[in-house]
Amino acid sequence: MDANRDARATAAELPLDALSTRLAGAVVAPTDAEYDAARRVWNGLVNEYPVAIAYCEQPVDVAESISFARDHDLDVAIRSGGHSVSGASVASGALVVDCSRMEWVRVDPEARTARVGPGATWGTVDRATQSFDLAVPGGVFSDTGVAGLTLGGGTGYLSPKYGFTADSLRSIDVVTGTGERLTASADRNADLFWAARGGGTVGVVTAFEFDLHPLAGDVLYFESWLPIEATPAALGSYREYQRDAPDDACVSPYVAAVPDTSAFPSDRHGDLAVVLSGVYAGDPATGREEFAPLLDPADAFATSADTMSYTDLQTMMDEDFPDGRRYYWKSVPLSELGDDAIDTLHEAALNAPSDLSTIVVWPMHGAVERVSEEASPIAGRDAAVVVNVEAAWDDPMATPANVEWVRETCRAFRETDSIAGTLPNFAGGREPDADAVYAAHADRLRSVREQYDPGAVFRYERE
Ligand SMILES: Cc1cc2nc3c(=O)[nH]c(=O)nc-3n(C[C@H](O)[C@H](O)[C@H](O)COP(=O)(O)OP(=O)(O)OC[C@H]3O[C@@H](n4cnc5c(N)ncnc54)[C@H](O)[C@@H]3O)c2cc1C
Repeated sequence: MDANRDARATAAELPLDALSTRLAGAVVAPTDAEYDAARRVWNGLVNEYPVAIAYCEQPVDVAESISFARDHDLDVAIRSGGHSVSGASVASGALVVDCSRMEWVRVDPEARTARVGPGATWGTVDRATQSFDLAVPGGVFSDTGVAGLTLGGGTGYLSPKYGFTADSLRSIDVVTGTGERLTASADRNADLFWAARGGGTVGVVTAFEFDLHPLAGDVLYFESWLPIEATPAALGSYREYQRDAPDDACVSPYVAAVPDTSAFPSDRHGDLAVVLSGVYAGDPATGREEFAPLLDPADAFATSADTMSYTDLQTMMDEDFPDGRRYYWKSVPLSELGDDAIDTLHEAALNAPSDLSTIVVWPMHGAVERVSEEASPIAGRDAAVVVNVEAAWDDPMATPANVEWVRETCRAFRETDSIAGTLPNFAGGREPDADAVYAAHADRLRSVREQYDPGAVFRYERE
């Protein structure tokens, strides 16, 4: 492997031992036994060879690592939860600044705030905040990193009620590209704070402070599984429902193959299906009434509606996206889920090269759209929905077909009622195109990056 050989050759020229003595954490080099495991991330498609991985345990370790990278003319890739879909948190030839060991959460229930280390995952934050009947609106999987998800906006079941994750951010502590340690909030370094609310990397964040919101008692989760031929009718009724959906409701239909489990009739196993699924983050009894039109459609072959704790909800899908599988995801915001978009989705589902793939429709109503477009770099708050096209496969030979399926499907969605920009966390592969993601906010974001990282030490590609 050339990239492997190059990484070894570059690392051999670097005083990595000197870096190691300056850090509380460890430095893993290409010649170390742990290197192969340390360079891997969640997405098995990603196979990068960094010159070293610096495990930072304190902000000062981060500052030392950035200074080392600048002295030796290395790019810095930043890794926290390691769930970047494009693998942007590792890069051949770069120094990886790994924040995963800064995993801590401190909740102040009286002030209704939480301070969170960049290595924390959502599972840790949800457990800590729910013990006080509070929550930050995070993602829908427990093992994604708080850092990358927040800096990319962050959508989840509580977004209609409480907004994007980044909308609950109060402040960050950050080490900039020049090695300066700053705090940014609405009142201090406000331009840096603006950029952190969805603009991706703006320096290495060493602490996040969030506003917390009330969330007591169980939530309701429902699913209705219908044959794939029912897609136009099912998504048509979803569109009607969505027009007046309350903030407590987050209904996100998807298409998927029927799992081979006893929850489904055996003659349906492996068939493609359209699934109406949603969460009610208020009184579950009200949720059952609210979801009545979607709960038991005539041609559904499996339905369920269960109350559960928010922390159980947040771990429910963890096993559906295992580490090491190959993934390629992109998304398109739509001003409405029109008939053309529904046809596109239906056809793409039928043509998917892998039966592990899915297309998910995310609602964008409620608190998300009440925040001003100017408050953060995220484009498209006025979208009605965002469609996420998510390919997953195991066979390495199937990579080109799956990547092309995602790209082609997104091109087709773009020709429907699409609007500019896209959710940063689901923007696609390593296409470093800030204009495509941030649309009208791209220039302002670039100028903030240039101000705080004039030497362009950080890599800015996002998935
Ligand atoms: C299974 C799965 C489920 C997901 N579900 C959701 C979801 O429900 N909602 C949603 O919005 N997104 C979701 N995502 C997307 C997810 O938000 C992004 O992949 C996010 O980047 C993951 O953050 P991380 O810290 O785990 O990633 P990493 O790979 O560690 O980092 C990703 C990028 O974030 C930046 N970054 C990371 N740490 C720092 C830091 N300390 N300082 C500055 N920049 C940093 C870097 O640019 C880095 O390249 C999901 C992803 C996966 C794999």
